[in-house]
Amino acid sequence: MDNAKPASSDRAPSHLFYQSRLRRPLVDRAEGIYLWDQNGKRYIDGSSGAMVVNIGHGNRHVIDTMKKQMDKVTFAYRLHFENEPAEDLAGRIAGYMPEGMDKVFFVSGGSEAVESCLKLARQYAVATGQAQRWKVISRFPSYHGGTLGALAVTGYAALTDPFTAMMKEMPKIPAPTAYLDRDNFSIEERGLRYADKLEEAILAEGPESVLAFIMEPVGGASTGALVAPDSYYGRIREICDRHGVLLIHDEVMSGVGRTGKFLGGDHWNCRPDLIALSKGFGSGYSPLGAMVAPSRMVQPVLDAGGFQHGYTYAGNPLACAAGGAVLDEIERLDLMGNAAAMGDLLKGELVMLSKRFPFIGDVRGKGLLLAAEFVENTVTMQPLAKEKNAFQRVIDIAYDKGLIIYSRRTRGGVEGDHFLVCPPMIVTREQIGEIVAILDDTLQ
Ligand code: PMP
Repeated sequence: MDNAKPASSDRAPSHLFYQSRLRRPLVDRAEGIYLWDQNGKRYIDGSSGAMVVNIGHGNRHVIDTMKKQMDKVTFAYRLHFENEPAEDLAGRIAGYMPEGMDKVFFVSGGSEAVESCLKLARQYAVATGQAQRWKVISRFPSYHGGTLGALAVTGYAALTDPFTAMMKEMPKIPAPTAYLDRDNFSIEERGLRYADKLEEAILAEGPESVLAFIMEPVGGASTGALVAPDSYYGRIREICDRHGVLLIHDEVMSGVGRTGKFLGGDHWNCRPDLIALSKGFGSGYSPLGAMVAPSRMVQPVLDAGGFQHGYTYAGNPLACAAGGAVLDEIERLDLMGNAAAMGDLLKGELVMLSKRFPFIGDVRGKGLLLAAEFVENTVTMQPLAKEKNAFQRVIDIAYDKGLIIYSRRTRGGVEGDHFLVCPPMIVTREQIGEIVAILDDTLQ
């Protein structure tokens, strides 16, 4: 490489606030599923950033659309002007939503999308004479965002513990697990029993005080692509209906096609009351997110004086133009179909790896939202000892070999390890082969 820049260890001290323990190399360029650092080393983006760059890097159509929009107008404040890209995108998104979910409230990220759902739920309750409802039940483990509201409904001890004194304590129920309980129930029976934990929590809290229940239909980073038994989803809706509790789906990671359908909840024809979108929505080309809500919830809030909430950059023309162009590409290239097909292929390969590496206890997920969990052994399914730090080691080894994967502690930040393999939805059969070969080498 000509003009190679110094390696990270040789670089001058930086004023950037690095969150990770390592100072990673500078990124130089990116194309498709690949990224290159300043020394010319190539990496496969096996996690699409953090499950963000769904349509891949360097997409010409998105870049050209954004350039055209920049020539026209990049920002106009929401209270001063509406803009065409936002109007268009809202209409297209509504077309992908379950019936009645017809209002799109734009934001700039996942935490903002979740925060918006919590606040609209609350204002809707107040506007409809249910001001006593404020508790939002969520699951453990879970991750719903870093702002204090979204963090209050997050079940991930390592992230919430420093802030508990500053947050309202919200009730948590265990997320269903595919195999951790050794009992005699069928998988469907287990799904119902896990769903019934929601009803138990609602009754324990007092149904009149419970505002909402929030969950990811297909789990993301905190659970390692957790998929509940089919029976779970319908039962959750029934319980919410019975007690007048709103159902919020956090589709920040699972939404916009990654699981092979537009929404993760579409696999079970779910009918949530509010939906949070982000990540793949802007696909890394622009910060972008949304809360999707039904008019029947929005109108009472507007009638009562308006939604007391919003963000400066929300729905700006540039972000919405990017979002529209991302949707164009998802449709033109049938990326949802590809995510489903390549997801099946990759999942099959991960299952094969799990047969060869006994410390892989479970492979799960839908479409290209896939994870493998490490265990001490596949009989007891006990997690690997924390000290082994398997999740960090696997990321580091794969990174050295030129594959970026995403990895976390599994059980709410407390114990267990998993890694997620979630390449961009444009990934090809050959590239899946490349990813699996490096993973194999890494696990060795
Ligand atoms: N919800 C889920 C399910 C997420 O995975 C994330 C981000 N990892 C968020 C919310 C928060 O999104 P952001 O980091 O864009 O604020």
